[in-house]
Amino acid sequence: MSSFCSEKTITARKPHRCSGCLKPINAGEKYLRAVGVSDGDFHSNAYHPECREWEVETNSHVVGPYSDDEWCFLHEHVAECRDVLDGAPEEVKRRFPLAGDPA
Ligand SMILES: [Zn+2]
Repeated sequence: MSSFCSEKTITARKPHRCSGCLKPINAGEKYLRAVGVSDGDFHSNAYHPECREWEVETNSHVVGPYSDDEWCFLHEHVAECRDVLDGAPEEVKRRFPLAGDPA
């Protein structure tokens, strides 16, 4: 099994969607591109830098980045338990408004 993962921060030339919070990343904004392969699956995800940072934080129990099935996107963690946002940067919290259950 081989895996790799690389991250870099770049300026968006077109809009993207953050894999952490599922909110838009606007063109001209700085965002983080995470590219990796695990078990032969290629993935390439765009993130708000703060969302990625917090996603890594919430996955700190997982050994190594993209440790297969155990890695969860930030929005998955939040859907399960909002407590993961405790201590998160304000801009991240704002991307998960307490709007009650989505209809
Ligand atoms: Zn985000």
